[in-house]
Amino acid sequence: MNKIIVISAPSGAGKTTIVHYLIDQIPDLEFSISATSRQRRENEKEAKDYYFFTTNEFKAKINEKAFLEWEEVYKNQFYGTLKLEIDRIWGNNKIAIVDVDVIGGINIKDFYLDKCLSVFIMPPSVETLKKRLMKRNSESEKSIQIRLDKAQEEISRNQDFDAIIINENLELACRQIKDIVTKFISK
Ligand code: 5GP
Repeated sequence: MNKIIVISAPSGAGKTTIVHYLIDQIPDLEFSISATSRQRRENEKEAKDYYFFTTNEFKAKINEKAFLEWEEVYKNQFYGTLKLEIDRIWGNNKIAIVDVDVIGGINIKDFYLDKCLSVFIMPPSVETLKKRLMKRNSESEKSIQIRLDKAQEEISRNQDFDAIIINENLELACRQIKDIVTKFISK
């Protein structure tokens, strides 16, 4: 069966690290590269971290109905999962793992139902999130505040996910999530 794993979390909750860990540990998984209209960060690569589009390119793809789901996650910053990306991964006989915001995660779960495992990663506290975002050094103070406001909203939706993992201790969180994913794959 074609399967899809959704990992959602507020920005700074450790999601990217956990997704990389899972891909490293479970060879059946392949990362679904999202499209975005936000600026590329210095350490990011085109077609590895994201497909970077201009806002116009992104809107054209919306009109073409190229997205499985898309969101204006932050004002004027669009993010979306391309249908072709999931087809590409399933064509490789792999299981897609997508890193999306909470609304995107809930929408994908609603669409794929039993084919989909949705996992929410909780930060231990909003204070920890703030520290992590500041340490990352890629965001302005304003951007950090926007992300923190959104985090509160996202945390309130965590009950809509199949599983919730608290990332207090990264190693433990990684092990817990690996267990859940492995069980889902072998089902
Ligand atoms: P960042 O700018 O930090 O890379 O990502 C910001 C937020 O956008 C994160 O919560 C991330 O999970 C989310 N995101 C990334 N790709 C997608 C996508 O394809 N769809 C949706 N809905 N959100 C995404």
